[in-house]
Amino acid sequence: MRKPVLAGNWKMYKTILETKDFLRQFHEHTISDDREVVICAPYPALPWLTEACEGTSIQIGAQNVHWELEGAFTGEVSVQMLKALHVTHVIIGHSERRAYFAETDEMIGRKLRTALTAGLTPILCIGETLEEKELGKTNEVVKRQLRTALEDVSPVEVGKLIIAYEPVWAIGSGLAATDEDAENVISYIRSLLPERYQDKVRILYGGSVKPENIAAYMSQPNIDGALVGGASLDPDVFHKMLVEV
Ligand code: PGA
Repeated sequence: MRKPVLAGNWKMYKTILETKDFLRQFHEHTISDDREVVICAPYPALPWLTEACEGTSIQIGAQNVHWELEGAFTGEVSVQMLKALHVTHVIIGHSERRAYFAETDEMIGRKLRTALTAGLTPILCIGETLEEKELGKTNEVVKRQLRTALEDVSPVEVGKLIIAYEPVWAIGSGLAATDEDAENVISYIRSLLPERYQDKVRILYGGSVKPENIAAYMSQPNIDGALVGGASLDPDVFHKMLVEV
């Protein structure tokens, strides 16, 4: 059985004060331990969050990491720095990083290998643009993204990944994919994984997930949870989704 995961991607939202407010309110809810919850916060909030969540079932992730271990890379953050803060997860290849920061499949592959070697759990994001969807290229695109990212990753390491299928047109748009469409792409993605790990790897759906639609995704056999942006910013809304995964 794959344990369901709800991951929040806060993007460039929440100062440290806002982070503290969120956690105070979120902690008023109980979290059952048959599901995982991960909060992927901006870097400045990570030291405080990892300390505040120590010993709780809330896991903390970053939203990006560099592929080199150290060096002259102004503005970048390394896996060692994240590990030293007890960060456990990292989003890699989010479509906003691909679109606005020119991250390529190759760069994403390098980041993925560095994160896995360091013992971080990557949340690898893949998904097609609206244009690619309209051209009927969804499977081709996710296959290319996945193949390039996993090129030098051993099958055992693939078993440690979390994958998020996030159609670019569904992110922040309110136009979520239907649960059937998401299930079809996600079962295709699963079929591309090394056979021994197909049943193990958690694959999430992301893109305009909210309390009203999360149950439909969770009712699909291949969808193991959600990566949530906008709706993860409010502690009560985020918790409403957590009870549904
Ligand atoms: P959204 O974002 O839930 O606001 O659509 C999802 C994401 O970017 O991971």
